[in-house]
Amino acid sequence: MKIICVSCGHKVDLGDSYDDYAGQVKCVACTALLEIKTEDGSLRSVAVVRELTAPRTATGP
Ligand SMILES: [Zn+2]
Repeated sequence: MKIICVSCGHKVDLGDSYDDYAGQVKCVACTALLEIKTEDGSLRSVAVVRELTAPRTATGP
Protein backbone atom coordinates (compact mmCIF):
# COMPACT_ATOMS: atom_id res chain seq x y z
CA MET A 1 0.00 0.00 0.00
CA LYS A 2 1.52 3.27 -1.12
CA ILE A 3 0.03 6.67 -0.51
CA ILE A 4 1.03 10.12 -1.59
CA CYS A 5 1.49 12.51 1.29
CA VAL A 6 -0.89 15.39 0.71
CA SER A 7 1.36 17.66 2.70
CA CYS A 8 4.68 17.20 0.89
CA GLY A 9 3.94 14.91 -2.05
CA HIS A 10 6.26 12.16 -0.85
CA LYS A 11 5.32 8.59 -1.74
CA VAL A 12 4.91 6.73 1.52
CA ASP A 13 5.19 2.95 1.42
CA LEU A 14 3.05 1.55 4.21
CA GLY A 15 3.34 -2.15 3.43
CA ASP A 16 0.70 -4.77 2.75
CA SER A 17 -0.83 -4.59 6.20
CA TYR A 18 -2.32 -1.23 5.28
CA ASP A 19 -4.28 -2.53 2.31
CA ASP A 20 -7.40 -2.45 4.42
CA TYR A 21 -6.93 0.19 7.03
CA ALA A 22 -8.49 3.26 8.52
CA GLY A 23 -6.55 5.47 10.83
CA GLN A 24 -3.55 7.70 11.15
CA VAL A 25 -0.15 7.32 9.58
CA LYS A 26 2.89 9.50 9.67
CA CYS A 27 4.73 10.69 6.61
CA VAL A 28 8.35 9.63 6.85
CA ALA A 29 9.48 12.61 4.84
CA CYS A 30 7.78 15.59 6.48
CA THR A 31 6.33 13.91 9.63
CA ALA A 32 2.86 15.23 8.86
CA LEU A 33 0.12 13.15 10.40
CA LEU A 34 -2.33 11.81 7.84
CA GLU A 35 -5.72 10.26 8.38
CA ILE A 36 -6.20 7.63 5.70
CA LYS A 37 -8.73 5.05 4.71
CA THR A 38 -7.84 2.18 2.41
CA GLU A 39 -9.90 -0.62 1.04
CA ASP A 40 -8.74 -3.64 -0.94
CA GLY A 41 -5.38 -2.04 -1.59
CA SER A 42 -6.68 1.26 -2.88
CA LEU A 43 -6.87 4.59 -1.19
CA ARG A 44 -10.36 5.81 -0.34
CA SER A 45 -9.57 9.01 1.48
CA VAL A 46 -6.66 10.92 2.86
CA ALA A 47 -6.61 14.04 4.98
CA VAL A 48 -4.01 15.92 6.94
CA VAL A 49 -4.47 15.67 10.68
CA ARG A 50 -1.47 17.75 11.58
CA GLU A 51 0.70 19.64 9.14
CA LEU A 52 4.42 19.54 9.39
CA THR A 53 5.85 22.11 11.73
CA ALA A 54 6.15 25.57 10.32
CA PRO A 55 8.92 25.81 7.76
CA ARG A 56 12.06 27.51 8.84
CA THR A 57 12.29 31.07 7.72
CA ALA A 58 14.70 31.28 4.87
CA THR A 59 17.19 33.83 5.96
CA GLY A 60 20.16 34.50 3.75
CA PRO A 61 23.67 34.84 5.04
ZN1 LIG B 1 4.89 14.34 3.83
